[in-house]
Amino acid sequence: MTAGPQLDPADAAPAGPVTELVAALAVTEKARLLTGADSWRTPAFEAIGLRAMVTSDGPAGVRGTTKDERKPSACLPCPSALGATWDTELVYSLAVALGVEARSKGVDVLLAPTVNLMRTPLGGRGFECFAEDPVLTARIASAYVRGVQHAGVAATVKHFVGNDSETGRWNYDARIAEGVLREVYLVPFEACVREGGTLLIMAAYNKVNGSPMTENVRLLRDVLKREWGFAGVVISDWDAARSTQATALGGLDLCMPGPDGPWGDLLARAVADGTVAAELLDDKVVRLLRVARRAGALDGVDGHLPAVAAAAPKLADPAMLRRTAAASFVLLRNSGDVLPLDPATIRRVAVIGPNAVYPTIQGGGSAGVIAAGVSTPARALQSALAGRADVSVAIGCQTWQLLPEPPAGSLRDPVTREHGVWLEFRDGEDRPLSAEHRASASLAWWDGVPAGIGWGEPGRIVLSASFHAAEPGPYMLSVAGVGRLRLTADGVTLIDDVTAIPDDPVEAMTRPGELRAGLWLEPGTDTALRVDFWPAADGAGPLAVRLGIVPAADDEALLAEAEAAAAVADAAVVVVGSAELTESEGFDRPGLALPGRQDELVSRIAAVHGKTIVVVNSGMPVLMPWAERVAAIIYAWLPGQAFGDALADVLLGAAEPGGRLPVTLPAAEADCPVLHATPDEHGILEYAEGLLIGYRGYDANGVTPRYPFGHGLGYTSWAYEFIDCPADVTARDDLELTVTIRNTGTRPGKEVVQVYLAEPLRSADRGRPRRVLVAFAAVRAEPGDPAQARLTIPARAFARYDESVADWIWPDGDYTVHVGRSSRDLPLSARVRSAPERG
Ligand code: BGC
Repeated sequence: MTAGPQLDPADAAPAGPVTELVAALAVTEKARLLTGADSWRTPAFEAIGLRAMVTSDGPAGVRGTTKDERKPSACLPCPSALGATWDTELVYSLAVALGVEARSKGVDVLLAPTVNLMRTPLGGRGFECFAEDPVLTARIASAYVRGVQHAGVAATVKHFVGNDSETGRWNYDARIAEGVLREVYLVPFEACVREGGTLLIMAAYNKVNGSPMTENVRLLRDVLKREWGFAGVVISDWDAARSTQATALGGLDLCMPGPDGPWGDLLARAVADGTVAAELLDDKVVRLLRVARRAGALDGVDGHLPAVAAAAPKLADPAMLRRTAAASFVLLRNSGDVLPLDPATIRRVAVIGPNAVYPTIQGGGSAGVIAAGVSTPARALQSALAGRADVSVAIGCQTWQLLPEPPAGSLRDPVTREHGVWLEFRDGEDRPLSAEHRASASLAWWDGVPAGIGWGEPGRIVLSASFHAAEPGPYMLSVAGVGRLRLTADGVTLIDDVTAIPDDPVEAMTRPGELRAGLWLEPGTDTALRVDFWPAADGAGPLAVRLGIVPAADDEALLAEAEAAAAVADAAVVVVGSAELTESEGFDRPGLALPGRQDELVSRIAAVHGKTIVVVNSGMPVLMPWAERVAAIIYAWLPGQAFGDALADVLLGAAEPGGRLPVTLPAAEADCPVLHATPDEHGILEYAEGLLIGYRGYDANGVTPRYPFGHGLGYTSWAYEFIDCPADVTARDDLELTVTIRNTGTRPGKEVVQVYLAEPLRSADRGRPRRVLVAFAAVRAEPGDPAQARLTIPARAFARYDESVADWIWPDGDYTVHVGRSSRDLPLSARVRSAPERG
């Protein structure tokens, strides 16, 4: 193939202060800069004053380049929780704090936010998305990008595009009509480029309409770079680039991770033989250096941002995490105003449920961090009510798929005698390579293990610890990892077997095979445990090994114990939800039911306690067949490390549950407009529902959800009084409106005023949504007071993408503006006539 004009000037990054630096580099040097130096760093090049840039996941905390309990991170509420705040200012402030933490850890590029959509509630990574709606996602995401970048860190908007489900993500071909891409899936990316000014976009693993996203000329070059004028870097998802020339021509700028990969010398050779144009290579380097300059990684060329402050890490403020979590909790139901609880009238509180004691504070995968301390609902309520009420705790049933790590303090390192384990790396001849104390029995590595250890290497990883059993009785022990695992207790082999290689490499860390054994332990005895782990020859992904220990328990006994606790309590709070592996990158959920016997648990508690309060700790929708039988339901998402404290604030009325649903909660699986989203046998994932995802699909299908998109009660009530809106709008103009509401309750509160637009529909418009969210604003008022929300419906809301002319068109006609508190509760409306463009 000959080169041809591969770089249209319209696709190129504008010339600037870094252009001259590029001219000074040889082709091989340029090519070298465009592949990672290791798992997380870009290459340095001293001759031009370029230092390595450090990248790090991710959306709900900054992990850094290692996952290590000695370097913890602030663990934020997950992105679906941030979507549930519907509060761009709050998200902006939190993102600034996240950026400051990243900066203090030497991170230049944050691999966040994720702006894919919750197309199906089964999406394993839905917790990492903000919403099912493109406009809510766009507003929250661009606030996030601006916040992170304000702190001097480059944001990476991901995963461009069509990575809305996980199973088969490496290869599936998402077939999405152009109009659907434009009006739904591209909307948040476009907002993050045009309004957020994101410095990086991550190209996804999957294909869209036949072309891998790392090679997708149409979307990367034509749309992103040319049409939207994106002048930053298109970075590959990790190992997503699988060709040299096609990715280079397609619009990819940076291959991660490194140092291996399809570029490097191969790219330099492609330039030498003319299959990749030299100007195209230059453009990629210019883009990289522009980001480096903005991140302060390019000496001598002024960046807008401060250089890395490698001082002590500055973790996001725990009080802010607590406030944000409370602001994201959605009060779905509050019959008889059972909430907030009045501490003066309660003497006995039963805190029940697996997630009260083992909360799921975050989702699995690259977004996971080691949290700097976790407040559990059980402990937080005990401390909030200390001296005022007795708080009993019962888990009610077990939901874990991987056994939990043993409780802190129950393991002792046999060498240092500290709490934790002794970790050794040993070579193929069983000779020690290195060793250290670790406080955790769940460990993972991308880099940094000694040579001779890893996939296909002969060495092994050894964990040793003595376990102190507080209670006598039967215990379950487990070892997890991908490869051969051996567990011995006091020298006796309990387990020696091999686990399977998972489909997606990230599962080596998030869902490795687990082997279990039972053991009877006497009280007060110490048992010497040793795990030997030989990583599999053909494994891939991060290396991870884990030891789990839990008292063997019987669900029947746990359920009965929980019932008994609820029966004698003044208040019963049942915290149910996802287990550790329920929601994760790499795979979608098999169904929407709560794991284990949690539905039965809630039903049985509701039968013995008339005012049961349920807290759902899930990042995405779950079925709640008991919803009408309980007094109150709070949807708490995956709320990060401040879960318990935020929940205590909300239950006891110190904070209002400020959230509104960013995703529809279905009454039954069959009601979901899109459910199973696995590719067919040819790897094709058809987005057959077109524009009708989420509430748009429920509306079009005439289905009533359990709780609609936008719903959330808070602790006060509101009257929607009037709407002040012009009667006409000219095509390509924004429309400003003011909505007046009044706090009719007895407490101060926050309301999210939501504006939906119904376009004039004709019979030929089948498949178009009845109405869509176009604007929203969070407002606050004291009891009895009015509040005004000023909102702008952007011009684009009055347009639709016309595939026949490949452009946006502004149809004339009568639109209806609906205003209210959810997609199904819209008390105010106004007619707006859209007129043709001014001549
Ligand atoms: C994920 C990305 C992540 C990257 C680096 C990939 O598997 O899809 O979201 O940023 O790994 O951890």
